[in-house]
Amino acid sequence: MFSLNERVAIVTGGSRGIGRACAETLATLGATVVLTYVRGEAAALETVKAIEERGGRARAMKADVAVSAEMDAVVDATVKEFGRLDVLVANAGIAVDGLLLRLKDEDIDNLVATNLRGTIASARAAVKPMMKARYGRIVFLSSVVGEMGNVGQTAYAATKAGVIGAAKSIAREYASRNVTVNVVAPGFIDTDMTSHMTEAMKTQLLSGIPLGRTGQSAEIASAVAFLASSEASYVTGQVLRVNGGLYM
Ligand code: NAD
Repeated sequence: MFSLNERVAIVTGGSRGIGRACAETLATLGATVVLTYVRGEAAALETVKAIEERGGRARAMKADVAVSAEMDAVVDATVKEFGRLDVLVANAGIAVDGLLLRLKDEDIDNLVATNLRGTIASARAAVKPMMKARYGRIVFLSSVVGEMGNVGQTAYAATKAGVIGAAKSIAREYASRNVTVNVVAPGFIDTDMTSHMTEAMKTQLLSGIPLGRTGQSAEIASAVAFLASSEASYVTGQVLRVNGGLYM
């Protein structure tokens, strides 16, 4: 495995699900991890505790990615306390599903504010110390549906397609500063976000997944850890699909 010793990472939405797994994996590999949360303070503190009990170093900071000033403050506080910022995992995201004809403007706006603008604003805040240090690893969380679309997910899929375009643009813009930007596009992963699925939906879904099962957060975290490592030095502007073969 890769070492992230001496590295400092921010994981947005790191209190549960895929974000928590990313925070734990990066910490296990030696990184100091700042995980952000909006509402789930107890879950965020529990994640910090779990990391510390295994000998890692972590902090929880409250910040809404949809409020750019809050992400700027997290980056400033991280650099002030730990002296650097090497890795950003822009994981925070929400899902609001609905068929096109029932999709409300408010839902579209919320999805864009968190998933797309929040991801871009997180990168904008993080890239400043990274470009100065001439080192950075930025990883965005997209989704399989951002590339293949899905019934009832027009707005969500659009935001997840959007982060791919953003990542490729930022990758081009900061390559000369040795900042890489990549995307992990998960398939269907067992988290709170997918827990509402009925058995019938799951059965239908599984028939389209060559590996025949849904994924686990730790399997996404492993891919993120690779892209966050110094070993991924020649990988930028890429989409790493971790979806059991659902979309190839
Ligand atoms: P989750 O709902 O379990 O966790 C999402 C996290 O984001 C939570 O910690 C939540 O507090 C945080 N968050 C939400 N809005 C926020 C905001 N405005 N500011 C800061 N934090 C905020 O979801 P998950 O399944 O762990 O998903 C993590 C990421 O992976 C999301 O971007 C999601 O779209 C993406 N994803 C998930 C799946 C899946 O099957 N679970 C598939 C593809 C992509």
